[in-house]
Amino acid sequence: MRRVTILGATGSIGQNTLDLIRRAPDAYHVVALTGGRNITQLAADAREMRADLAVTAHAELLDDLRAALSGSGIAAAAGEAALIEAAQRPADWIMSAIVGVAGLAPGMAALAQGSTLALANKESLVTAGPLLLATAARHGARILPVDSEHSAIFQALIGEDRSAVERVIITASGGAFRDRPLADLAHVSVREASTHPNWDMGQRITIDSASMFNKALEVIEAKEFFGLRPDQIEVLVHPQSTVHALVGFCDGALMAHVGPPDMRHAIGYALNWPDRSHLPVARLDLAAIGRLDFAAPDPARYPALALAGQVMQTGGHAGAVFNAAKERALDHFIAGRIGFSDMTALVARVLKGGVPDAGPDMGARDITLESVRHWDHFTRQQMDRLIAA
Ligand code: NDP
Ligand code: MG
Repeated sequence: MRRVTILGATGSIGQNTLDLIRRAPDAYHVVALTGGRNITQLAADAREMRADLAVTAHAELLDDLRAALSGSGIAAAAGEAALIEAAQRPADWIMSAIVGVAGLAPGMAALAQGSTLALANKESLVTAGPLLLATAARHGARILPVDSEHSAIFQALIGEDRSAVERVIITASGGAFRDRPLADLAHVSVREASTHPNWDMGQRITIDSASMFNKALEVIEAKEFFGLRPDQIEVLVHPQSTVHALVGFCDGALMAHVGPPDMRHAIGYALNWPDRSHLPVARLDLAAIGRLDFAAPDPARYPALALAGQVMQTGGHAGAVFNAAKERALDHFIAGRIGFSDMTALVARVLKGGVPDAGPDMGARDITLESVRHWDHFTRQQMDRLIAA
């Protein structure tokens, strides 16, 4: 039996992962499940999967979790340190699906035990790419991408000579406001921004899709994971979300990954890798789809994309600063304190102020969990001050 742990089990990716594991109960032993505020879901899944351990990120919810698990024999724990301990429990395959930079330290702990890390948490590579890759290499751990675009690139690269890769193209649906007049964007509501045309995802990534902060993070994620230069990564708006990414080779060929917008494909690919197994995703009827559209992203509609370029050129802790500024601006948008367009404007202002601890050649020695934490904290405070001003 394969021992599996799911970090962020109560979220959208976590629930899709459990859906796949549930279909082959004899193949897996669930070691640990972690969640945040959704104690009911966490306890129900832990009971159903007969997990050894369930952990909530929030210390004040430990009693609730204990009560929900009473009589089950499942251990309960809470808090940041407990999340890391969950990731340290011996497991063969660990899903990293906590949202935000909070996923970084548990993911690092999973790598340090030499496990295979299925990485949905893109913030890990954005904030600490060199550190994450060096940790994996040092402990003989493998990282498998779960973000659909990166899974698509990974699959298109199988059997290919990396030096023959000229470019990668990541597609973007264009999000909730692709066809809205630009002038409206300042006033769109949180509810409208939380609806995605094609994908069913957590609220934060859905809003990030509307602003294209999600795509900005994915561009940086691709640079880090595949070792690309910034000028090798392109973004195309593709409203049907059917082609997830393309890899361009030196002979002019483009290898495209085509599939339904269902995260269980990318999760299942990482779960079954290096094999392919049957997955319960829809089979595409291309004749019924009829046409696939592609367009260059409009920089005025999606200013977050240009910020990704700036972050990659700056290097060092620019990713940590960018992500923290984005996460905090998103908190303020969700709380109704700032408008939708203010998010990119404020993040741009933070970056314009300069990233003190940066440099394109900074690597794993210069970027540590502590330094990422420091700049993350520093930037969140800076963002709060900007908004209060
Ligand atoms: P959700 O918001 O649906 O779920 C997030 C998970 O993290 C939940 O289990 C949540 O617990 C938990 N969580 C929230 N805050 C904390 C915290 N501070 N510490 C520990 N755990 C916490 O997110 P998604 O599943 O949509 O996304 C997860 C990650 O995967 C993100 O990094 C996202 O960018 C990435 N991703 C997601 C895709 C998708 O289709 N959803 C596609 C590609 C990448 P609770 O809900 O119990 O509070
Ligand atoms: Mg994606």
